[in-house]
Amino acid sequence: MVITMQPGASPEQIKSVTARVEHDGFKTHLVQGTERTIVCVLGDDRPMDPRAYEVLDGVEKTTRILKPFKLTSREAQRENSKVTFGGVQVGDTNVVIIAGPCSVESHAQLMETAHAVKDAGAQALRGGAFKPRSSPYSFQGLGEEGLHILAEARDQTGLPIVTEVMASQQVPLVAEYADVLQVGARNMQNYDLLRAVGKSNRPVLLKRGLMSTIEELLMSAEYIISAGNPLVMLCERGIRTFERYTRNTTDINAIPVLKDLTHLPVILDPSHGVGKWEYVAAVARAGVAAGADGLMIEVHPNPKQALSDGAQSLKPEKFAELVRQVKVVATGVGRE
Ligand code: PEP
Ligand code: MN
Repeated sequence: MVITMQPGASPEQIKSVTARVEHDGFKTHLVQGTERTIVCVLGDDRPMDPRAYEVLDGVEKTTRILKPFKLTSREAQRENSKVTFGGVQVGDTNVVIIAGPCSVESHAQLMETAHAVKDAGAQALRGGAFKPRSSPYSFQGLGEEGLHILAEARDQTGLPIVTEVMASQQVPLVAEYADVLQVGARNMQNYDLLRAVGKSNRPVLLKRGLMSTIEELLMSAEYIISAGNPLVMLCERGIRTFERYTRNTTDINAIPVLKDLTHLPVILDPSHGVGKWEYVAAVARAGVAAGADGLMIEVHPNPKQALSDGAQSLKPEKFAELVRQVKVVATGVGRE
């Protein structure tokens, strides 16, 4: 259940409603909207009688949330959540572009890519230092050294950085360097990690699992928010289907469905979605047309030599072309 306070309800009224709910044996979570405060009741609220709360001072109404995800749902918060990091805001009318290599491979590779994506119009830099690879014999990332290189690229370009954290014990280290903590597809249901990033104050980019439903993605977001971190962005990155011409199948449907079900920003990663650079720009355009709040694109100065995901990485000039095309689509659908 969510308890919507009247516009202008006083801090004392909010405190007294919270105290009453907690006295009745439930946990609460406050959502501070621009006009109203919402008190979310956590736990099995079926035995609660809404009328008992509707009469409390400062309460406008109560709403039962029937979906299994609560804090994440549109019912808990009608307005879009906005997530800000390093001067970039995601979830507003602008379409944010995050770009960079799959992995940080060397100082020279990252600096070259960082400057190129910045010049092309990216607003944030991505790059993995800790890499989840299907084979233990593949390049596993530079680890902490990769984080140092990312931090230097941020100093040089001013672009905030998005990088993956793979384990709960790594969260303090990665959060020291990253502006956004990426939880990868393979870890979407690593509940220990979700709780750990939920205790961090860094925004989280939560990628959809390879075989996960939209509801499972939202339940994972619920773990993070209920642990105390409301700064969550969802990322559709393609799901596994029977189709073999592409690496995954971009679930374009997920974009409007998520925008309907949740107030959280939705980012599309067409690079992992298709797995072939030739198709990345087309799917990026489709994602923006479908309502994505941002894109995450893999870019490499020399894709043939990339230590991971070269086949889906765009050369900087192709990325610049993608940015130009995406701007046209964004304007066409009333975005910036
Ligand atoms: C990545 O972003 O490079 C990555 C490993 O993505 P995913 O977790 O979606 O496979
Ligand atoms: Mn990758």
